[in-house]
Amino acid sequence: MEGKRVLLLLPTTTYRAHDFIRAAGHLGVETVVGSDRKQALQDLQPTRGVTLELRDPEKAAGQIAAFDAKHHLSAVIPTDDETAVVSAAASARLGLPHNPPEAARAARRKDVLRRVLHDAHVPTPRFSLMTLEDDPGAAARKQIFPVVLKPTFLAASRGVIRADDAEQFVAAFRRIAALLGQSDVKEHGGDAGRLVLVEEFVPGVEVALEGILLASRLKVLALFDKPDPLDGPFFEETIYVTPSRLSARVQKAIAATTASAARALGLREGPVHAELRVNDRGPWLIEVAARSIGGLCSRTLRFGTGLSLEEVVLMHALGRDVRALRRQPRPAGVMMIPIPRAGVLRGVSGLTAARLVPGIEDVTVSATIGRPLVPLPEGASYLGFIFARAKTPALVEAALRRAHARLAFDIEPAG
Ligand code: ADP
Repeated sequence: MEGKRVLLLLPTTTYRAHDFIRAAGHLGVETVVGSDRKQALQDLQPTRGVTLELRDPEKAAGQIAAFDAKHHLSAVIPTDDETAVVSAAASARLGLPHNPPEAARAARRKDVLRRVLHDAHVPTPRFSLMTLEDDPGAAARKQIFPVVLKPTFLAASRGVIRADDAEQFVAAFRRIAALLGQSDVKEHGGDAGRLVLVEEFVPGVEVALEGILLASRLKVLALFDKPDPLDGPFFEETIYVTPSRLSARVQKAIAATTASAARALGLREGPVHAELRVNDRGPWLIEVAARSIGGLCSRTLRFGTGLSLEEVVLMHALGRDVRALRRQPRPAGVMMIPIPRAGVLRGVSGLTAARLVPGIEDVTVSATIGRPLVPLPEGASYLGFIFARAKTPALVEAALRRAHARLAFDIEPAG
């Protein structure tokens, strides 16, 4: 892949910069980092970085086209929901294989996604849309409980709250309204910043599907079980384990539902990450995004002779055939370490003991000592990640739990 140059769209808040840059290095392709902030040394090395207005996809696409005119780009790689829209718009201008920009936009907005899926008869929760001007008390009287309330444009379960009765409904609505009023969130949301989505609560177990669309065909790269129940009131992601322990029949139905969702949206090229719930009525599509898995979770996956997910994504974007690649079969998992309470992180102990648990490959603390920690539903980050590999999915899960139990986070209550 010598001589190729890829643009990585890396918002300053992403965990994924390192893994993508390393993957590009392994493949021998030159990387340009497109970020919303100017990077150190950018003036000295103008082909290494470009500052983009990632919040404004059309504008960012124009900036990328201008960069491409001087330094030819072979691919534009997104790393989150927002940059998926930028990548689609820019790739369209550059004549690269891409998702239709409107499909990437629809996948980014939870209300639009629901409407598209309903129209295409893909199983997905019933929903209604409120604005911040609406009276939550009146809306609560019309609900069939339990329901889930959420903003339409945030990620990582931020602002997603279950309500079992009218009182909880009103409290959840007000909490989301306050979150939407925070300046950083407001800036992000634009018009969507005034919307609250109300959905039927779908009971069941939850899975995450990691896949890649190859000329509109979905190739499943991995299916993760989420063994911790996600029943609310907040929906903290914790453990992901692959391969799934669900039956082959159910796994097939999950893949088919995800493929129909991608088709309904019009997605056709590149990574997809979907979250589904499964109950006795089959799989239900909660979310599908035109990007690969977030956080550091991709580190659980290895393909072929040891390729990372980021390498697979880059290879596909550069026109290489990835159809035959398979996930290495050894069961693996990750725990996103949740923030247990608000405060300031003062220290972490037990790291060595946690790393010594059989099956544990790594424990990474990503939160910064001395910085305030914000738990769900307002927060959007984790304390860190624990990675495990073992003979069976059950052993992977057990190793992750044992390692987590050995960690102690010293959190000083905030002011
Ligand atoms: P995000 O994109 O922020 O992760 P989601 O809409 O995917 O937001 O919701 C986050 C989590 O909340 C889901 O993974 C799921 O566990 C739970 N959840 C969201 N909507 C529903 C629903 N309608 N029924 C049941 N659980 C839900």
